[in-house]
Amino acid sequence: MKTKIIDGRAMAAGVRERVAKLVATLKDRHGITPGLAVVLVGDNPASRIYIRNKGKATKAAGMNSFEHRFDASLSEGDLLKLIDQLNKDQTVNGILVQLPLPDHIDDAKVISAISPDKDVDGFHVINAGLLATGGDGLVPCTPLGCLLMLKKYAGKLSGKNAFVIGRSNIVGKPMAQLLLKESCTVTIGHSKTRDLRAECLRADIIVTAVGVAHLVKGDMIKAGAVIIDVGQNVILAPEKGEGKTRLVGDVDFEAALGVASAITPVPGGVGPMTIACLLKNTLTATLKQHGIPERELV
Ligand code: NAD
Repeated sequence: MKTKIIDGRAMAAGVRERVAKLVATLKDRHGITPGLAVVLVGDNPASRIYIRNKGKATKAAGMNSFEHRFDASLSEGDLLKLIDQLNKDQTVNGILVQLPLPDHIDDAKVISAISPDKDVDGFHVINAGLLATGGDGLVPCTPLGCLLMLKKYAGKLSGKNAFVIGRSNIVGKPMAQLLLKESCTVTIGHSKTRDLRAECLRADIIVTAVGVAHLVKGDMIKAGAVIIDVGQNVILAPEKGEGKTRLVGDVDFEAALGVASAITPVPGGVGPMTIACLLKNTLTATLKQHGIPERELV
């Protein structure tokens, strides 16, 4: 079987272009420019890169980007005060606090302080609850991106067996909810799952969000399955030279070729779609806050 390699970069470019067009129309017709505030506490190098990329992408889509950077000593109280100001600021339509936060700050407390209407990460319990009960809230960006890819590459989702590996609040659980909403028969795997292989082999769709390189091997994949690999794992790459590393997913990509009908590569699959969906969510939040239906801009 020929395996389609899903080009996340190209798909993300399409999403970003559509968002930019709608943002331009929103400005023309209503004089509104969506604004995204991103908050970074501490000096995590990966977080700094994410924040820089998010800022660039926000501006490229024609939106305002407000960056708030603090050193790791910022108190929880001061961070909560900032969130309160951003909640009240009419020019800010989306708020994203980059995780992880330093140990002395309670992530859950900070996330629950963000107004659910501006929670473009979709992590607030209100948004998680809306997703679980079929409501219309903001959906976490990574699973939203995965769903868009599945809608394009897995055909009709209804009735398919979907196996989501990982049960985190930011990827696994919302992914499972989204697939359930699409009428898939959903199974969730995790570190205590007894027979990962058997569960994988029953699946028409596998979404992995674990963080273990090559967890899913070629002989664990049903012929024709569609695979979305969210995992990001840095492994040693002796072929590139001593001490060199490379980024891989949770799936043995090479072994999946010829078995799966489609698969996302790492890098270049889910990652770019996550940022594109952040922009999409910022636009969605802005439109909701102003009571403007998206169809009015199309
Ligand atoms: P997490 O650590 O919160 O959750 C990992 C999950 O994997 C847990 O539910 C755990 O039960 C499960 N697990 C661990 N070992 C397992 C095993 N041997 N078999 C089956 N399940 C196992 O992780 P997360 O925040 O959801 O992230 C998961 C991965 O996705 C990481 O590699 C992360 O870097 C990546 N990620 C990528 C993006 C992106 O945009 N590409 C976004 C978020 C996360």
